[in-house]
Parts: sequence; C-alpha cells; structure tokens
Amino acid sequence: MKTLDAPEMVEILSVVKENSLVKTLTLDCKLKAKPGQFIMLWIPGVDEKPFSLSKINGSKIEVTFKKLGPFTEKLFSLKAGDKVGVRGPYGNGFRLAGSKICFISGGVGLAPLMPLIEQAVKKKRNVTVISGFKDKTQLLFQNRLSRLKAELHIVTDDGSYSRKAFSTDIFESLLASQKYSQVYCCGPELMMKKTLDLCLKKKIPCQLSAERYMKCAVGLCGQCCLAGFRVCKDGPVFTEKQLKDTEFGTYSRNAEGKRIPLHW
Ligand SMILES: Cc1cc2nc3c(=O)[nH]c(=O)nc-3n(C[C@H](O)[C@H](O)[C@H](O)COP(=O)(O)OP(=O)(O)OC[C@H]3O[C@@H](n4cnc5c(N)ncnc54)[C@H](O)[C@@H]3O)c2cc1C
Repeated sequence: MKTLDAPEMVEILSVVKENSLVKTLTLDCKLKAKPGQFIMLWIPGVDEKPFSLSKINGSKIEVTFKKLGPFTEKLFSLKAGDKVGVRGPYGNGFRLAGSKICFISGGVGLAPLMPLIEQAVKKKRNVTVISGFKDKTQLLFQNRLSRLKAELHIVTDDGSYSRKAFSTDIFESLLASQKYSQVYCCGPELMMKKTLDLCLKKKIPCQLSAERYMKCAVGLCGQCCLAGFRVCKDGPVFTEKQLKDTEFGTYSRNAEGKRIPLHW
C-alpha cells in the first residue's frame, strides 16, 4: 500500500456503465486510502481532475464519475486496458462515528459515501441510507446497497422510481421519529446546505463532503477555498460546525475564481 505524490500511469482494469451519464472505472492501483479521500486523475494532453474513491479494495480502487465537461467526456470514452495517471490519495476523509447513522446523498454524491456505508454496516452500526436521484434512469449502486443490512430510502425527483421526493424531504420526515447520532452527506451543494441546516437545528453531528473547483490538490494554489479552509487539504469532509454561517450553499467559484451563485 502506498501514496503517490506524482502521477503514476495505471491500467483501467474494467469499466462499468452505471447509467447514461455515470461510469465506474476499476484501476490497477494499490493505494493506502480511507473513505472520503480523493485522487487526482490525469489524462495526458487533456487535464487532471479530482475524484473520490467509490471502492477501496486492497490492490484495486474504483472511481465513479458523471459526464459533465471536457475531462469527464474523455474519461467516459476510455476502455479497459487504457491507462490514466493517478496521484493521491488526498484530503482528510470521513471519520466513522455514531451508533445510529444516517447517510444522505444526491446523485453521484453517493459514490464517496459507499465505502463508508459498507464499513459502518460491517461494524454493526444501525445504518439508514437516503439516496435521491433525478429519475429512474439515473439510479446508482442499487445491487450494492440491497446487499447491505441497512434501512434504504431511494427516491426520485420526478417519482419515476419509488417516491417522488428529495432525499432531504425524507430526512426531515424521519427526524420526527428518529434520533440519529451521526449524519454523513454528499451531493449537490444546495441539498447539502439543507441537510446542514437540519442537523444544526436538531444538534446532530454531521460530516459533509464538499466540492470546489480544484487545481493543485495539495494546498498550495488556494483555488478551492471554502469558509476559510482549503477543500483539498483541510477537507473535502467538513463538520456542521465548520460550515455554519459561511458562504457554503450560497456561491461556488469557477476555474477563474469568479463567484458563481447557487440556485435551486
Ligand atoms: C474532492 C472532489 C471529489 C470529487 N469526486 C467526484 C466523484 O467521485 N465523481 C464525480 O463525478 N465528480 C467528482 N468531483 C467533481 C469532478 O472533479 C468534476 O466533475 C470534474 O472535474 C469536471 O471536469 P470536466 O472537465 O468534465 O468539466 P468542467 O468543464 O471542468 O466542469 C463542468 C462544470 O462543473 C463545474 N465544476 C467542475 N468542477 C467543479 C467542482 N469541483 N466544484 C464545483 N463545480 C465544479 C465547472 O465550473 C463547470 O461549470 C469531485 C470534485 C472534488 C473537488
């Protein structure tokens, strides 16, 4: 097991198309990593971008990514046998805590939570997973989740699968009868802000995996600052106390550092 300070070219062992926009790559890479940490993936001549680990498995790691712009479009076209550069892992990762845990995700935000959900179930914690997706075509990890001893709430924005609801609606309604000792959350920032506010109101410890446009990933360039922290070095996982009364949920920043307001 190792960490990589400079990119090492590794082979893509397999590619799984999870849905029309999301793929999972299994990489031939033995990394010492924990849930919630991320790696920098490099495609020579294209770019280098951050991705969380959706599985950490001894000699292999997996990343699950959504096609969004130039880099992820290129990544989407790669096949088993192709090579990508990997450096990392970076960031603090999640800290497993609490006996009754609720995991809340939106879309591909489920990816960094998956290894922690599996770890929590293995350690016999009482686990609830609330996962929201745009529609039934965008569901992720349903087989992996159904194998777990956990209470599952899968919802869609349009009701095309299961209930028509946002994951935060389900969380809010569960809070009326359940007392969680820890919450973990990853997804679109406005959905995480709603979770953050509910946790602050109910005084539940919460760890949220935040995203900012990232360049160096090692705390030097300052591009990914959020709430006075560097997401790459001090995060990407932050507690409810760190994000309380900050710009989190109001604006992000683009590659030039310009403020981009967040809207529903
Ligand atoms: C710590 C971390 C972990 C990540 N893990 C995953 C993952 O597991 N799976 C996954 O699909 N994606 C993940 N991402 C996001 C991923 O890095 C971006 O989607 C990717 O860099 C987009 O590159 P692109 O060239 O395809 O699109 P771009 O053209 O670079 O981006 C498309 C749009 O998304 C915006 N954008 C890009 N990156 C970010 C960002 N980090 N925060 C906010 N807005 C952004 C751009 O401003 C632009 O509007 C993660 C990001 C971070 C910071």
